[in-house]
Amino acid sequence: MNAIWNGTEATVETDQETAKASGVRIERENHKLEKRLCRQVGQAIMDFNMIEEGDRVMVCVSGGKDSYGMLDILLKMQQRAPIRFQLIAVNLDQKQPGFPDHVLPAYLKQLGVPFHIETQDTYSIVKKVIPEGKTMCSLCSRLRRGILYRVADELKITKIALGHHRDDMLQTFFLNMFFGGKLKGMPPKLVSDDGGHIVIRPLANVAEKDLARWAAHRAFPIIPCTLCGSQENLQRKQIGNMLREWEKKYPGRIESMFTALQNVVPSHLMDTTRFDFKNIKTTGIADPEGDKAFDAESFDTPPFAGVSGLNGLQVVTL
Ligand code: SF4
Repeated sequence: MNAIWNGTEATVETDQETAKASGVRIERENHKLEKRLCRQVGQAIMDFNMIEEGDRVMVCVSGGKDSYGMLDILLKMQQRAPIRFQLIAVNLDQKQPGFPDHVLPAYLKQLGVPFHIETQDTYSIVKKVIPEGKTMCSLCSRLRRGILYRVADELKITKIALGHHRDDMLQTFFLNMFFGGKLKGMPPKLVSDDGGHIVIRPLANVAEKDLARWAAHRAFPIIPCTLCGSQENLQRKQIGNMLREWEKKYPGRIESMFTALQNVVPSHLMDTTRFDFKNIKTTGIADPEGDKAFDAESFDTPPFAGVSGLNGLQVVTL
């Protein structure tokens, strides 16, 4: 009775209601996130014809949030897809000190997905060859690439799936522009450098922050990526910070830049191998959409406004 008078009971009830409402809200948000991830991965698979009937897809899993997310979403897509394909999770244990080699097999077993763990001590080789203090990444990734191609052959793989996402692609684009003098990003689908494999990036349309949220929601057993002791690429880190800063200050800019990667106008760049500037001729026909030439370009609203999803995108090839 006292509890009613002093309001304690009412407070307990209110707290329970608030907790319930917040639980429902979180569940709804996670459901929305799952739908978005599936839609974006599905769109990438369709747009670039990433997965076809009968494919054996090797899903490269490192133990980081992105590759866990890729495997998770691909497994969902596999159940809903109108075509049949196989997923084989592959992890390369490079024998880095402290690598918890029980984590991935336990997780993959519990998931029920076919998997293969390839153990190769590339860490010792890299340590032996590269002088102390020098960056080990280029040799390490070359060795890793070669091993994964061999494993793909042994497992009769038809597509190799990597967990790079939209933000990795934009970072690469800026890295190439700032330091490499090239307008070049990270392709969603490519032929491997040995000419023998098709590599796909099903997370091409997915934002890193969504993968981070999904990883937290799904409680993936994340393995830290700093075990090798190598410094993260400083230039890539700087570009990542720049993009995050822009996203905070100018909402929509990242989306606009990502849209731009899919909306290329070679006649308005300066690569003479992509557009035949030397032989352009007048047409004599007025084009209201044509280039005004004398007027500088201006945007009242972001150029991506009104474009829903990725369906409104168009690659201009002239
Ligand atoms: S960060 Fe470490 S594991 Fe990754 S490529 Fe560089 S040396 Fe290899």
